[in-house]
Amino acid sequence: MIDLRSDVKTRPSAAMRAAMAAAEVGDDHMGEDPTVNELERRGAALLGQEATLFLPSATLANQIALRLHTRPGDELLGEDTSHVFISEQGGPAVHSGLVCRGLPGELGRITPEQVRAAMRPDRPHYAPRTRVLVVENTHNSAGGTVWPLEELREIVETARELGLALHLDGSRVCNAAVALGVPTADLAGPFDTVTLCLSKGLGCPMGALLAGPAELLVEGRRLKHQFGGATRQAGIVAAAGLYALDHNIARLAEDHANARRLGEGLAAAGVPVDLARVETNFVQIDVGPLGLGAAEAIARLAEAGVGVTGTIHPTVLRAVTHLDVTAEQIEQALQVMPGALGVGARAGAVA
Ligand SMILES: *Cc1c(COP(=O)(O)O)cnc(C)c1O
Repeated sequence: MIDLRSDVKTRPSAAMRAAMAAAEVGDDHMGEDPTVNELERRGAALLGQEATLFLPSATLANQIALRLHTRPGDELLGEDTSHVFISEQGGPAVHSGLVCRGLPGELGRITPEQVRAAMRPDRPHYAPRTRVLVVENTHNSAGGTVWPLEELREIVETARELGLALHLDGSRVCNAAVALGVPTADLAGPFDTVTLCLSKGLGCPMGALLAGPAELLVEGRRLKHQFGGATRQAGIVAAAGLYALDHNIARLAEDHANARRLGEGLAAAGVPVDLARVETNFVQIDVGPLGLGAAEAIARLAEAGVGVTGTIHPTVLRAVTHLDVTAEQIEQALQVMPGALGVGARAGAVA
C-alpha cells in the first residue's frame, strides 16, 4: 500500500536504527543519559529556547506545558479544532482542570481581535482567569496550514499585552519553517513553551520535546514523573531524535513537493482538491461533490492500494506525504486515485 494516512506511519530507517543501536545510554530520570542530554541541548538550539525536556509523546508535552502555565479553573484559549481540544482525550480538563475555550478559526488561525474579545477584564470576581493561549503550527485539522510570519507576530504580541502565557503546539513546526524558508527558531523562539513531535515527519519511532525556560522545565521534569512519562535508558530513542535533527528536517521540502504534485495532479484529473490549502505535506480531497461519503471513498482508495484517512469534515479526506513515500509512489497514486473515486475517464490527463 502507498500509505498516505499520516506522517506518523514513518518507520525508522536502517541508518536511524544503526544510530539507535550505537547510542550511549544511562539513567535519564537522574539526568545521566548522555544521548538524551545531547538531544535536549540540540533541541533547545533548534527551537530558539533555553532548554528542552525529552518526552515519550507530543500529547504529553502539550499536557505538561498546560499544567506549567495554569491552576485549576483557569481558562485555555485556542483555535477550536486544535489538537489539544479535539485529539487529547480532554487532557486539559483532566490533568489541569482547565476551562477550554475554542475560538472559530480560519485555516487554523485566530485573530488578535478574537483573543482580545475573549478576555473578561471587567468580571474578575466571576469569570475564570484566562491564562494561556495555544497556537498550532502547522495546523493539523486545517490541513497542515502555516501561520504567516506577520500573523504569528501579531498574535504573540497580543497575548503578551494581555498577560497570557503562550504555548506553541509545534508538533510540525519544522514543516512550517521549511515551508516559509526561515529557521525553526524564528517560529518557536517567541513562545513561552513549545512542543515538537519527533515521530511525525521527522521519522522517529517515538518521542517529543517540550521546550521552554530552564527554570520552568525543572518543574516540568517533576511533572514528567508525576504524569508517568519518566524514562530510564531513553538514549536509545533519543539517538533517533538526534539522527532526525541531522538528516530529516531539510528533506521535509521533498514531502511538501510531493504533496503539491499530488494535489495538482488530482486537481488536473478532476478530483476536488483545495490547492490553496496545500502548504506543507497534507492534501485535502473533498469527495462530497463526487457523490461519495468519506468511508466509501477511503475503502475504494484502499482497494486501489492507496491509504488515506478522513478528517473532522464529513466529506473531506486527507493524504499525507512523508519520508517513506517516494516521488515515484506519488505518480503511481495519481494513476489510480481518480479512477477509484469515479473520475477515471479523465485520469489519463495526469500522466
Ligand atoms: C500528532 C500531534 C500531536 C500529538 O503527537 P503524539 O506524539 O502522537 O502524542 C499534538 N499536536 C499536533 C498538532 C499533532 O499533529
